[in-house]
Amino acid sequence: MAAQTGAPPQLEIETRLFIGGEFVESADGGRIPVINPHDNSTLAEISEARQPDIDRAVEAARRAFPAWKRMAAAERGRLLLKLADAIEADAAYLAELESLDTGHPIRDTRGLDVPRTAATFRYFAGMADKNEGSVIPVEPGFLNYVTREPIGVIGQIVPWNFPLMFTSWKMGPALAAGNTVVLKPAELTPLTTLRVARLVAQVGIPPGVVNIVPGYGNVAGQYIAEHPGIDKIAFTGSTVVGRKIVQASAGNLKRVQLELGGKGANIVFDDAPMDAAVNGSAFAIFHNQGQACIAGSRLLLHEKIVDEFTEKFLALTKSIRLGNPLDPATEMGPLTSPGHRDRVLSYIEVAREQGSTILTGGKVPADPALRAGCYIEPTVVTAQPSDRVCQEEVFGPFVAITRFKDEAEVIGVANSTQYGLGGGLWTRDLQRGHRVAAAIRSGMVWVNSYKRVSPGSPFGGVGQSGYGREMGFEAMHDYTETKSVWVNFDANIPPFYKRP
Ligand code: NAD
Repeated sequence: MAAQTGAPPQLEIETRLFIGGEFVESADGGRIPVINPHDNSTLAEISEARQPDIDRAVEAARRAFPAWKRMAAAERGRLLLKLADAIEADAAYLAELESLDTGHPIRDTRGLDVPRTAATFRYFAGMADKNEGSVIPVEPGFLNYVTREPIGVIGQIVPWNFPLMFTSWKMGPALAAGNTVVLKPAELTPLTTLRVARLVAQVGIPPGVVNIVPGYGNVAGQYIAEHPGIDKIAFTGSTVVGRKIVQASAGNLKRVQLELGGKGANIVFDDAPMDAAVNGSAFAIFHNQGQACIAGSRLLLHEKIVDEFTEKFLALTKSIRLGNPLDPATEMGPLTSPGHRDRVLSYIEVAREQGSTILTGGKVPADPALRAGCYIEPTVVTAQPSDRVCQEEVFGPFVAITRFKDEAEVIGVANSTQYGLGGGLWTRDLQRGHRVAAAIRSGMVWVNSYKRVSPGSPFGGVGQSGYGREMGFEAMHDYTETKSVWVNFDANIPPFYKRP
C-alpha cells in the first residue's frame, strides 16, 4: 500500500502486485504512474510486473491448480458467491476508484459497472456445479461419458475501458470451471482489479488461484502470451494486439480466446419508435465516452426520417452533461488517457479531410475546468460508408451518420467492415427485426435497444472482432477441455486379434 497524490484522502489505493495470495513489490522495483483523466493528476504509482514477476505468478498458479481443480465444484461456487457479496459490500469504494481511474461517471460505476461485476461473479458461482457432461449412445457393451475438465493456468489480458467489469467476465467463468488465473489489467487502469485481489484474499480463495500482475502490454502482456506455463490466453483488446497474441501463443499451442474491436452499425428504419431510437442511439455511442467495443459508432438512418431523427439526436447530444466523473449529475466524463484523447481528436481531422460535415462537437470543451483533463465534446459527423471513420474503430464519443434507401442496401453497409461484434436496429416491424438481425454478420444484435449485456448471454464477435465467447454456458465451455471416457462393461466383446 503506498501514498498517492490525486485521490480523495479516504481512498487507500493498493499499488502492489498480487502473487500467491500476497501483495508484493515487483522484483526489480519498476513503477507505473496511474493518472486521473479528469485533471491528469497522478493517482498512484503502482508496481510494474515484468518477466520475473510473471514467472512467479505462473508458478503460484500452477501450484494452486491441482487442489482448486479437485475442490468440490459447489465449494468453488460458494467462494465466488462470497466474492460477489464482498464486491457489493465494497461498492462505494470500488465505484469511486473506478471513476477516478477511468473517467467513467460515478452514476455509471455505481449503477452499472459495480453491480454488473458482482452479478457476473454470482452467475458463474451458480454455474460452478452445473458444468455437466454427457453420456453418448455408442455401441452396446460400452459406456462413453464426456466430462468437462478445467484447462489449467489461464493468462488473462484486460483492456482499460471497463477494467472492473471485465475482470469479472474473465475471472468468473475461469475460476468456476476450476482453472487458476494470471490476470494482467491494462497499465492505464489497474486500481480496481488490485482492490478485487484484496477481496479475493479476504473471502478465502486459496493463495495462487488468482494472481494480478499489472504491467505494460509489450513486456508483461507479451510474456504472458508466450509463456510455456500458461495453457490458455483470454484477451480483450484491439485487433492489432490480438494478432500479436495469436503469434506469441504458438510456442506451446496454448488455447486462445479473443474479444477484439468493433464498428457497430446502428440502423434506424423509417418506422422506428422515434424517441426511443434517438435515446437508445445516443446511449449506444456516448455511454462510457464511446470507449466500448460494441459502441454504435455508425448510425445508419433511413432517408425518410434522416432529418427528423438528426434534429432530435443533435438536440439530445448537445444536452449531455460533461463534467467531473465524481459528480452524480455528470453524464459524460473524460476519455481515459491523454494519448487516447489525442487519437480520437485525430479522427475528427480525418473526418474533416474526407469531407464530413461536423454537425456538433469536434473539439475539446471550452470550459476551463475541463481543459486540464481528457475531455472531448460528443461529436456527430456525416460520412460515407467507405470513409475511414466508418471503417476504423475510433473508440470515442464520435458517431458517423450515413443515410440509406432500403433494407438490402443497409444490410450491405452494415456488413461492409472487417469487424463483426455488435449491431442494432430500430423498427416497429417485427418480421423485419428478425430478418435483419439474421442478416447482420456479428456476434450480437439488438432490436429496439442497444448494448444490452447479461452474464447469461454469450458475448463475442466474428471476423476481425475475434473468436470465442464470454458469458453464459459458452464461456464455461471455453474454459474447459472435454474428456471422452470409454468403459467396456461387456466381457463378451470379441477381441480385435483372434487367437486360439
Ligand atoms: P490494447 O490492445 O492496446 O490493450 C489491451 C490489453 O493488451 C492491455 O492490457 C495491454 O497492456 C495489452 N497489450 C498491449 N500490447 C500487448 C502485446 N504486444 N502483448 C500482449 N498484451 C498486450 O487495447 P486497449 O486500447 O487497451 O483497448 C481498446 C481495444 O479493446 C479496442 O479495440 C476495443 O474494441 C477492444 N475491446 C474489445 C472488447 C470485446 O469484448 N470485443 C471489449 C472491450 C474492448
